[in-house]
Amino acid sequence: MKLNILVLPGDGIGPEVTSEAVRVLEHVSAKWGHELNLTDGLLGGIAIHKTGSPFPADTREKALAADATLLGAVGSPEFDDLPPAQRPEKGLLGIRKALDVFANLRPVQAFESLLDSSPLKNEIVRGADILIVRELTGGLYFGQPRGIEMVDGEETVTNSMVYKRSEIERVLRMAFKLAQGRRKHLTSVDKANVLENSQLWRKIANEIALEFPDVKLEHVLVDNCAMQLILRPTSFDVIVTENLFGDILSDEASVLAGSIGMLPSASIGDPLPSGAWRGLYEPVHGSAPDIAGQKKANPLAAIGSAAAMLNYSFGLKEEAAEIEAAMQTVMTSGKVTADLRPKGTPATTEEVGKAVCAAIG
Ligand code: NAD
Repeated sequence: MKLNILVLPGDGIGPEVTSEAVRVLEHVSAKWGHELNLTDGLLGGIAIHKTGSPFPADTREKALAADATLLGAVGSPEFDDLPPAQRPEKGLLGIRKALDVFANLRPVQAFESLLDSSPLKNEIVRGADILIVRELTGGLYFGQPRGIEMVDGEETVTNSMVYKRSEIERVLRMAFKLAQGRRKHLTSVDKANVLENSQLWRKIANEIALEFPDVKLEHVLVDNCAMQLILRPTSFDVIVTENLFGDILSDEASVLAGSIGMLPSASIGDPLPSGAWRGLYEPVHGSAPDIAGQKKANPLAAIGSAAAMLNYSFGLKEEAAEIEAAMQTVMTSGKVTADLRPKGTPATTEEVGKAVCAAIG
């Protein structure tokens, strides 16, 4: 199979973890006889430096032409004082919108071999296996009007949480379908006791539930969900929620997996007329400037994102499963980076990538 993939390493640890994901993709492609056609592009802070824009037109064109995009991470402290429109993160929002990838799938699993890496008690995290479906192209991050202005002589700030019915329907429908393929339990997270936005979300969730009688739907308020994720994580199967809530809850859920460096993600939309899924695949973590360039970054989230790409965008389920099994082997071997608190000397980013390739064989 021909795999046309755009690689956007981005900033900070982005290039380090992406290199290892590419190493694994090259290894798997060689083993299974796939033709890997990789193109590089600029996104985030590095794109601002080289082109003046966090999401250059060239990157947009390449992303639309590729079958799938693998992204590292964007962001750098040097841009921290700039308004959102001039920051690297604007590039991230731009590419998600350009590809219309409205559903961000974030699996969180407590692997047996890493239970001690979680700060939570083993008996709480053991068996946790959650899929968080985050709405990705609407809500507060995109809503207009927005901005800081003077009103009655005082600085006043506005952000708007805007959703159309169709945007809510499509992500909820995708979450119901994903729940059907798992343990058939969907938790819809909102703040319906305060926000009209959530009231419409909840109403639509109840309507769509009628199309999926085999899936049990439960509604949980976001503040309670944040608590229950830590108290009884095994009670969740699929969680679906809007953009901001999903962003926060999935970072919180990373403690179940031992480290944010373990969490892959797949962002997908509706299939193209050709039937292909042009997804965007990226680790959940950011550019981690505190450890960038130190060979400490855990590449497993990026490698897991590459596996998700093979699965969703190319339908290469066996290859994806082989990568995931190899990741498990490496975790069990203890050859993991410092964030997972290994008993021996921590492995470097590159050592983990090479170990995954070796485990694939
Ligand atoms: P972060 O995820 O970059 O880092 C949070 C903590 O987790 C840090 O201590 C970091 O060292 C650690 N960490 C993250 N990834 C790791 C990995 N693979 N291995 C080991 N440890 C890891 O979040 P932050 O510090 O809040 O943000 C840093 C920058 O990244 C900011 O500019 C932010 O806007 C940006 N950001 C980008 C994305 C993205 O590109 N998708 C997501 C979140 C944050």
